Amino acid sequence: MSMSLSTLGALIDTDHMLRACCNNPKCRHYAKLDLEYLAVKLGRDHSSMRDDLVPKLKCSKCKSKNISLILSAKSTEGLGHT
Ligand SMILES: [Zn+2]
Repeated sequence: MSMSLSTLGALIDTDHMLRACCNNPKCRHYAKLDLEYLAVKLGRDHSSMRDDLVPKLKCSKCKSKNISLILSAKSTEGLGHT
């Protein structure tokens, strides 16, 4: 069984997180996306693919629509701490 990560709901259920990075060279704002909020707003079945999600986002700092998404697993956060 392979777990698809193609929807917002799947990312939440599998403890993934998405971070957004603004590509405006004068801004470079970097933020963790609130997936729970996006799932409420767009629906849990909304695609989590960059091309589908980025048009719904804009940089909260400079309002740029030129945004990169970085997917990571929550469980890797904080590794290295003892
Ligand atoms: Zn920005």
